[in-house]
Amino acid sequence: MIKTNGPLRRGNAQYLLLATLLFLLLSPGVAYSLRTVDITITPCTFGQGEVSLVTLKQAAGEPQLIWLRKRIPMVYNKKYELWAGFIGADLTTDPGRYKLQVNYTNTAEPDFIPITVRPKDHGIRRIKLRKEMVELDRDTLQRVLREISTVKQVFMTPSEGPLWSGSWTRPLPGTIVSPFGCKNIINDMERSPHSGVDLKAAVGTPVKATNRGLVALVAEHFFSGKSIVIDHGGGIFSMYFHLSHISVRVGELVEKGDPIGLSGCSGRVTGPHLHFGIRLNGRRINPLTLIEISKTLE
Ligand SMILES: [Zn+2]
Repeated sequence: MIKTNGPLRRGNAQYLLLATLLFLLLSPGVAYSLRTVDITITPCTFGQGEVSLVTLKQAAGEPQLIWLRKRIPMVYNKKYELWAGFIGADLTTDPGRYKLQVNYTNTAEPDFIPITVRPKDHGIRRIKLRKEMVELDRDTLQRVLREISTVKQVFMTPSEGPLWSGSWTRPLPGTIVSPFGCKNIINDMERSPHSGVDLKAAVGTPVKATNRGLVALVAEHFFSGKSIVIDHGGGIFSMYFHLSHISVRVGELVEKGDPIGLSGCSGRVTGPHLHFGIRLNGRRINPLTLIEISKTLE
């Protein structure tokens, strides 16, 4: 059960209900005052493939949050004196009401905060590709399966503590040429939805690390071409595909904004662009939403 204290306890019940409703309607996020911490969730209702920022104040030590059966690592923000972390829903997370569990070290009983995941229509994109890029021969199929397994392995072995801090930044300024999450209809066949966002970029545009992290993968894959995956710790990974040049090595620590390569049109593409993706605890989330909601941590 959520227990409130402080300002929410004052006044009569009707006023409290009205004030709470008004607050919920007017505010993009929700603030709770729990037993030992003040917690804000911005927003507390979000769509499939979206993400929310959770901040906690007055916590003694790192707070322990559980969301969809996974622990959410929190990062301390010195400037605002709060703990920050992200919760997200995959493109295929069932819409509904979930509970964010907040554990305390000084009590056995956790608090639960209701969070709503809405259904979200990310649209459709239709692409025409050369037959050999879609209907794979045996050898190419074997190659693609090996590459999928390599990337999966990277996601399954994240570095322990969070390496990221503050806000997240765009790897390059380009406009969106293909949005996140849209259904892919390739040569009239439905394929996996778009797991990242495609940003317009002429071949050779510098690509920057979206936040601090360790380079976890450098590869040249059939679909994603020259690719980089950065491990930001705490279960967050960023991906940069279709590059023309890679200037980092596996194991290298990069800071937010560091150049990591140049955009291009390698792999399966219809034109030059950067495919930019984020995995949050194994979930595909819109990287631009993460950038947007993290601005308050700047
Ligand atoms: Zn893409």
